[in-house]
Parts: sequence; C-alpha cells; structure tokens
Amino acid sequence: MTAQIIDGKAFAAKVRGQVAEHVAQLKGAHGIIPGLAVVLVGEDPASQVYVRSKGKQTTEVGMNSYEHKLPAETGEAELLALIAQLNNDPKVHGILVQLPLPDHMNSDLVINAIDPAKDVDGFHISNVGLLGTGQKSMVPCTPLGCLMMLREHHGSLSGLNAVVVGRSNIVGKPMAQLLLGDSCTVTIAHSRTKDLTEVCRRADILVAAVGRAEMITGDYVKPGATVIDVGINRIERDGKNKLVGDAHFDSCAEVAGAITPVPGGVGPMTIACLLANTLTATCRANGLDEPQGLTA
Ligand code: NAP
Repeated sequence: MTAQIIDGKAFAAKVRGQVAEHVAQLKGAHGIIPGLAVVLVGEDPASQVYVRSKGKQTTEVGMNSYEHKLPAETGEAELLALIAQLNNDPKVHGILVQLPLPDHMNSDLVINAIDPAKDVDGFHISNVGLLGTGQKSMVPCTPLGCLMMLREHHGSLSGLNAVVVGRSNIVGKPMAQLLLGDSCTVTIAHSRTKDLTEVCRRADILVAAVGRAEMITGDYVKPGATVIDVGINRIERDGKNKLVGDAHFDSCAEVAGAITPVPGGVGPMTIACLLANTLTATCRANGLDEPQGLTA
C-alpha cells in the first residue's frame, strides 16, 4: 500500500474539540447553550443507532440535545406540528429529521417545513439554492466533512480535477457544489455515465458516493489521486459482518496518493459537521461571529 490514510476519526475528534471550545465560550460570554433537536419517526434500527450517537456527541460538546421519537404510524400533520413547535422554540438552534421517513410521509414537504436557519442537515430547498449560488447557507454534513478533510490534506483545491461518482441530493450534488466553490473543475458521474473508469482516472480528487460496495477499484484511480470514500455498506464476508466503502480499499490504496478508510473516514466527520452546523446556526441566530473553519 502506498496511499496516505486520511484519518477521519482523528479529524472528527479535532472538530468536536473546536466546537466544544466555542460552545464553552458562548455559554461563558453570552449565556447561550446551542440546542439540537433530532426527530426520529419509526423504529428503523440503523436510524436508532445514528440518533443515539448524535444525542451522545451533542451533549459531549456541551450542547443541549432534544430527542423526539415518534411511532411509525404518526401522521404527517402531527410531524409538521412538531416541526412548527421546534421552529418557534428559541432553545432549539438546529433541527434534524432523521431520514428515511416512513413511506406514508412526503420527505420533501417535511424537510421544507424546517426553518432554513435551523436546517442543520442543509437539505431545505432554500439552503440548496443558497449553496448553488455561492451564498451563505447551511451545508449538508457529509459533503462538508469531505470538503474539510480535502482542504486539510491539500491546502488549496483550486484548479484540481474532481470527479464525484453519485448525484444524490444529500451527497453527490452538494459535494460537487462545494468542490466547485473551491475552484475545482468538477465532473458529476452517475449510473448512465459512459466510460466511467476513464472519467474517474482523470480525477485528482475522486469522491465515491455510489452506494455499491467496493465498486470503485484501483483501475478507476489516477496515480497519486485523493480518494474520498463516502460509502457505508454492510456486507457478509467469511461468515462475518463487515463495513466497507464504495471504494475497494486495498486496490485503490495501491494507486492513490491518499484515501479515507471505511470505517474511520467520512463517517465520523458527518456527525462532527452536524455539531459544527448547530454551532454555526446558533451564532447566526444571535448575530454573533461564526467560528472560522467550521463551515464551507
Ligand atoms: P443514492 O441516493 O443511492 O445515490 C447513488 C448514486 O450513485 C446515484 O446518483 C446513482 O446514479 C449512482 N450510481 C449507482 N450505481 C452506479 C454505477 N454503477 N455507476 C455509476 N454511478 C452509479 O446514495 P447516497 O445517499 O448518495 O449515498 C451514497 C453512499 O454514501 C452510500 O454508500 C451511503 O451509504 C453513503 N452515505 C454515507 C454517509 C456518511 O455519513 N458517511 C452519509 C450519506 C450516505 P443514478 O442517479 O443514475 O441512479
């Protein structure tokens, strides 16, 4: 293996430390405690794990965590009423509705009911538009975490060729916008892209967000490129459950200059960025300077 490992776990711990410092300052100087409300509808096991983890890390950095667990059969109107209540609650600076929602709910409608200033997931249509037009917005946590790691590793990203494989609203598209904002030359690839291997091999920065276990192998990687693996896939191998990325780690690491591992890469950065966004939202809501280096 030749690639340098980009340690997302360590970087996330550093980000959480910075957030905790700012939270302590906010409390000391202004008596403000950032509050994050997380809403979970239903009993999806993976979502329950994420929500627990978010709650724990929120209190660890000194913020208030408000968890709202609703049964799967909750009506959309009831969920919208809860969001309206959280929008109006001055103790709540960030609101996250855990996705996926049950099938009987319209996720777009629900997400767009969140006050954009409290939309710490950055999925509200206003935040999508602000990001797309290069204005101050709430930035989706997973792509923000990727951007932070890339900036830390490369310094300037200006002029680099970036290929994002995946065009979802929550990862691929915002990732591409952020890279464009940092003056990369950006290509978005997807399931209809022709000659995907060739397209990827032109990338100085290759972001794998396809949702297919280990699909991006070393053949897709330009020698020395940086590979950011967003994927989280649970597979069974040799009779054991294993977590793997969308990139095939061993073959990519032979060719790449740097790579994020799974687990321990993008994953931990996502929650760290959620906390960073909650802090940013709190500062903006109170007309205070927002911390440097914790948003795009
Ligand atoms: P998604 O909504 O399923 O989108 C997958 C994208 O990959 C689509 O745009 C799809 O193209 C494209 N794609 C699928 N097969 C392809 C192929 N054979 N060749 C080229 N492109 C292909 O997934 P997502 O929500 O963006 O998530 C992507 C990955 O990131 C998943 O592994 C997910 O678990 C992970 N994830 C991780 C975090 C984290 O915190 N680390 C957060 C969110 C997601 P089309 O649009 O043409 O169908």
